[in-house]
Amino acid sequence: MPSQNSQSLEKMSKTDTIKLRNRYIGKSCKLFYKSDPLKIVRGQGQYMFDEEGTRYLDCINNVAHVGHCHPKVVEAASKQIAVLSTNNRFLHDELVHCAEKIINKMPGDLSVCYFVNSGSEANDLALRLARAFTKKLDVITLDHAYHGHLTSLMEISPYKFNLPGADPKPDHVHVASCPDDYRGKFNRFNSSSDMIKDQYIAEIESIAKKVTEEGRGIAGFIAESLQSCGGQIIPPEGYFEDVYRVVRKYGGVAIADEVQVGFGRVGTHYWAFETQNVVPDIVTIAKPMGNGHPVGAVVTTQKIADSFAATGVSYFNTYGGNPVSCAIANAVMDVVENEKLQQNAQIVGEYLLSEGIKMGYDFEMIGDVRGYGLFVGFEIVKSKSCRTPATQEAQWIVDRMKSVHRVLISSDGPNENVLKLKPPMVFTKENAEEFFVAFNECMHFLQKVNLSSLTEDVSNELPTRTDLLIKAM
Ligand code: PMP
Repeated sequence: MPSQNSQSLEKMSKTDTIKLRNRYIGKSCKLFYKSDPLKIVRGQGQYMFDEEGTRYLDCINNVAHVGHCHPKVVEAASKQIAVLSTNNRFLHDELVHCAEKIINKMPGDLSVCYFVNSGSEANDLALRLARAFTKKLDVITLDHAYHGHLTSLMEISPYKFNLPGADPKPDHVHVASCPDDYRGKFNRFNSSSDMIKDQYIAEIESIAKKVTEEGRGIAGFIAESLQSCGGQIIPPEGYFEDVYRVVRKYGGVAIADEVQVGFGRVGTHYWAFETQNVVPDIVTIAKPMGNGHPVGAVVTTQKIADSFAATGVSYFNTYGGNPVSCAIANAVMDVVENEKLQQNAQIVGEYLLSEGIKMGYDFEMIGDVRGYGLFVGFEIVKSKSCRTPATQEAQWIVDRMKSVHRVLISSDGPNENVLKLKPPMVFTKENAEEFFVAFNECMHFLQKVNLSSLTEDVSNELPTRTDLLIKAM
C-alpha cells in the first residue's frame, strides 16, 4: 500500500505544486512556459505526459538521449543500484568498461578519462587540466557561450555574465566573436563567403597575440563544437582547424565542450567536433551520457593528464564514476549502437533540415534554417530583408506549439529568437512531420495577424491539433 505521503504526492493538483514550488524553491530557478508551466509526470521515448495524461512530442530534451525511460537504461540502473553504489576509490568493472567505451570512440591521443557528475563539473575540471598543463590562466571563449553554472564557468560564459546584475567578466577571460554567419560580426551579408572564417580566425589570433605580448599567455580556448545556447550555430567549414592551430601556436590547449552535442547527435559522426575534422586536447561530455541521470566525463591526452598528476594534488569526486552512473552510461552507449540511433539522427536530421529550408522559402519570418543531425534551429525575424530578431513572435510560437499542438520546442540565442530542436535520438520522420504541421500552422497564423492583437479567445478559435493532423494526412 502506498504511504500517506506518496498518496498525497500523487493527488497534488498542479496549482498546489506551483504554490509549494513558489514557497520553497529559489526564484532564480526558472520554469519553461512561464504563464502556464507544465507538470510532467511521465516520459516514454520521445514523448512526455502531464498529470492529466496529455501527451507532448518532446523536441527539447537532448538529455533523454536514447528516449525517456529507455528500458535498457532503466534495467541497468536498477540492477546496479540494487547491488552497489559507491565511490571510485574501489575497483569496479562498470567504471573501466565505461572509460574504455568512451576512449574507443575518441580519435587521436585522447586516451585518459575522468568521471564527474555534470557538464559544469566537466568543464571546471577541463579548465584545471588546461591550466596545470600550460601554467597559464587566461582563457579564450566565444561570445554567447554557456559552459556551466559554477563560478569558474560563469566567468567564461558571456551568455550569463553579459546579463544585467551578473558578475562582470574577469580580466583573464577573453571573448572572441561567435562564428555565426547569419547574425555574427562577419556574416554572409557583409562578407564574402570565403572571407568569413578567416575574419573570425584573425580576431582569435589578435587576442592570443595581445595576451601573449602582455606576458600572460593563453591556457586554452573553449567552445562548443556547435553552439547551442548561442542559437544553434554551425561554424564555417574549417573554423576549428584554424582556431586550434592558432591557439596551439600560442601555447594554449583546445577544449571541445560536447555536453550538448555529443554521442551521435550530429548523425554523421559520434562527436560534433569530428564534423570539423579536428582533434581537441580536452573533451567534456555529460547530459546525453546518462539519459537523465547525472553523469559526465573529461577526456584528455596522457601528456595533459600527467601534468595534472604532477601537481601532486589528487582528484577525488565522491559520486563521479560511481558504478550506477557508469552502468547507465554503458547502457546508453550500447543503445546508441544497437538501435543505430546515430544513423537515425542523420536520416531524420537531414529530413528536418531539408523540409525546414523548404518551409523557410514560404515565410518571410523564417530568416535562417540551420542544423546538423538532430540539432536544428529556425531563426525567426521580422522579415528576411531586415533580419530584426522577432523575439516576441518566437516566444509566441513556442507557447502555441505547446498549448495547441502539444509539441515542445524552446527558443534561445542572444535575442531569444531561434527556435531550437534537439529531440531524443529516437525521434522519427513521422515525428518530424508532426512538428512541421504544427509549425506551419503557427507561421501561417503569425503571417496573417498582428501579434499584439492576439488574445486567448482568438487562439481558442483556431483549429485544434487533431483537425490539423487530419487535414495533413
Ligand atoms: N556546457 C554546455 C554547452 C551546456 O549547455 C551546459 C548546460 N546547459 C553545460 C555545459 C553545463 O552542464 P550541467 O547543467 O550539466 O552542469
